[in-house]
Amino acid sequence: MNRAGILAVVGFEILSCAVLAACGGKYEVHKETRLVLGTVVEITIGHPDRDLARMASKEAFDEIERVDALLSNHNPQSEIAGLNASGAAEATAVSEEVFALLERAEGIRVASAGAFDVTVGPLVELWAFDQGGRVPEDAAIASSLASVGGTRLELDEKAGTVRFLAEGMKIDLGAIGKGYAVDRAAAILESAGIESAIIDAGGDIRLLGSRPGKDFWRIRVKHPRKVSRPLVDLDLAETAIVTSGDYERFFMVGETRYHHILDPRTGMPARLCQSVTVVAPDTAGADAYATAAFVLGPEEGLRYLRSLPGVEGIIVDAKGELLWTDEEKMGQ
Ligand code: ADP
Ligand code: MG
Repeated sequence: MNRAGILAVVGFEILSCAVLAACGGKYEVHKETRLVLGTVVEITIGHPDRDLARMASKEAFDEIERVDALLSNHNPQSEIAGLNASGAAEATAVSEEVFALLERAEGIRVASAGAFDVTVGPLVELWAFDQGGRVPEDAAIASSLASVGGTRLELDEKAGTVRFLAEGMKIDLGAIGKGYAVDRAAAILESAGIESAIIDAGGDIRLLGSRPGKDFWRIRVKHPRKVSRPLVDLDLAETAIVTSGDYERFFMVGETRYHHILDPRTGMPARLCQSVTVVAPDTAGADAYATAAFVLGPEEGLRYLRSLPGVEGIIVDAKGELLWTDEEKMGQ
């Protein structure tokens, strides 16, 4: 299970009663949960028409499942798994959707000086966090690093093709794909006329509008170490909020914590942060920026987040200190 519940949405108790009187009208609240994207995904919709909400929720989940089947490394039928299995030594055509996401990822790699890099696949396999994890030999890390690095990924925009310039390369969209799936689901809800909803994919959250009758949703960010305690509550509307932390997928060897956010430049888990929370216009962006800032560490990470338009964030550094891009803008 991946990152479920890093962010809890406060106020569900009130919201989850079947009917909510708000804005002078009655709002039905429809809530549905499914296991998909390797995590618990929950969609909550506030809308006066219960049938419409139910139908919109189903369509949104169908879309998330479609995206998962397109991008997942765990599904051998997915386009990404197929590309990885082929080795892509020759230029290989991919769907427009996959190409667009790879181009977005490439832009984020460049802007983050290689901290975010979807070619980390060989390292992700080596650390085997999905099977509980193990510390690889130095030589194995060194040899995986020869198959890692976005500069070895050739994207031909005109032809819509992808080519791996080194042997053994593997793309892993684990740090952006979940956010992308959430954005697609949000687009489905919007086109169904839903104006008030929360899509929460194990901590990758997209808010449509605000809570019925209020002008925000209250989002609770968990403390990376004292998991039962809130780090902070944020009142947000019509935005995405994502947290990357070292406390969801990790194992300990003695006092050392090994976790799933890897520094693509060293092949080791990034050491400078405990968690990074990002608020951004879209969830795919927030997902990737959070991973990038985590790897960059508090100083560079804060500078990086501040350089992104419409983006704010909170970094918890290795000592547990909180750093904000702009505390006031985040309503504190
Ligand atoms: P979560 O998986 O908890 O949502 P992230 O969004 O930070 O957390 O994504 C971490 C996942 O992304 C890892 O499990 C791995 O598949 C992949 N990954 C790890 N390090 C990086 C990195 N530096 N750049 C891009 N992807 C990464
Ligand atoms: Mg991420």
